[in-house]
Amino acid sequence: MCPDILFLCEVHYKIVMKKKKISILGSTGSIGRNCLDVVRNSGGRFKIVSLSAGSNVKLLAAQIKEFNPRVAVIGSVSKVGELKKLVPRSVKVTGGMEGLCGIASGRDVDIFVSALVGSAGLLPTIEAVKTGKRVALANKESLVMAGEFVMKLARKKGTEILPVDSEHSAVFQCISANRKETVRKITLTASGGPFLKTGISQMKNMTPSKALKHPRWKMGAKVTIDSATLMNKALEVIEAKWLFDVPSHMIDVVIHPESIVHSFVEFVDRSTIAQMSIPDMRIPIQYALTYPERVANHVRHLDMARIGKLTFEKPDMKKFPVLKLVYEVLNKGGVLPAVMSSSNEVAVNSYLKGRIKLTDIFKVVSRAVKARKDIKAKCIDDIFKADKWAVNYSEDLINRKVF
Ligand code: MG
Repeated sequence: MCPDILFLCEVHYKIVMKKKKISILGSTGSIGRNCLDVVRNSGGRFKIVSLSAGSNVKLLAAQIKEFNPRVAVIGSVSKVGELKKLVPRSVKVTGGMEGLCGIASGRDVDIFVSALVGSAGLLPTIEAVKTGKRVALANKESLVMAGEFVMKLARKKGTEILPVDSEHSAVFQCISANRKETVRKITLTASGGPFLKTGISQMKNMTPSKALKHPRWKMGAKVTIDSATLMNKALEVIEAKWLFDVPSHMIDVVIHPESIVHSFVEFVDRSTIAQMSIPDMRIPIQYALTYPERVANHVRHLDMARIGKLTFEKPDMKKFPVLKLVYEVLNKGGVLPAVMSSSNEVAVNSYLKGRIKLTDIFKVVSRAVKARKDIKAKCIDDIFKADKWAVNYSEDLINRKVF
């Protein structure tokens, strides 16, 4: 072989074999743990450089022991001392939002995994987008609340934002072999959650312990409650609008209880492409990390003959009214999606504490959305202000039991 080619082969080998450096924002939650499992089984393809958690010190310390990051952040500042005692001195330990934004702006990182829960993920995600590195996005609230600003920033910095959400990963995979202009409709699938077969009059009696038993996916509490009300799907409609840059009327939702088809895209020639797999978050997480490569893994094979049939049905808009509200919110735009998302976060927390009923979540959210008069969003600061307003307004509604 000629020396030039040998040299090129060597360079290629080094590039291919170079470990991708990963920073996980939110490593002890469901997405974070699945992400670490992907890293654990990747055959040395990835190196964890920083980890962060909200308050689970014990699990974070165990993850630090296994993955040996340089930096670790614990969200609760009061727990910094406790974490320091459990990990080697070589690991730099910080805390709070400042610490999170610190690791999110780290230079020596190839991929940021944004897996924080709720609106707390917005600021660190913006910091990660500013770096121009790949962002594997699981924190949908970043796009729900500030999609216009986050996507504009990503275009300016040349940042790739790859979806981790299973539906959006599916759409991304369906669209990627085609021109975006040829997309006719994006359909997000929804399992329907634990109360798909529950009568509408029974919904108000569904307790958190019942709502937390999702039939298909193992997820954190917030997203599981959002799945029971279908708020999760409403937020995903907004997420899809920004990720794929399509108007809301091109995004549809269909109930698919088996959770095998993770979403599908219809094209102008009336051909529809769907992405399917068993419901396992490691698949979309891995794809966001290895894209454009597809890499073998240990996830269970999809046995279609064993599954037998796949079913689809229209969502019941009376039982899940948020699927109507989301289109009104999207059409008005501005800060309203942020108001909807933040009000929901407050209402879900109150529901989990037994302060309100499941059906009150929607009542609180729709009241907050309707009460918000100034909807203009000229800059990201308007989003943060609207977030605060929505939190205060919704807490007040719940305290006064007026909804
Ligand atoms: Mg999803």
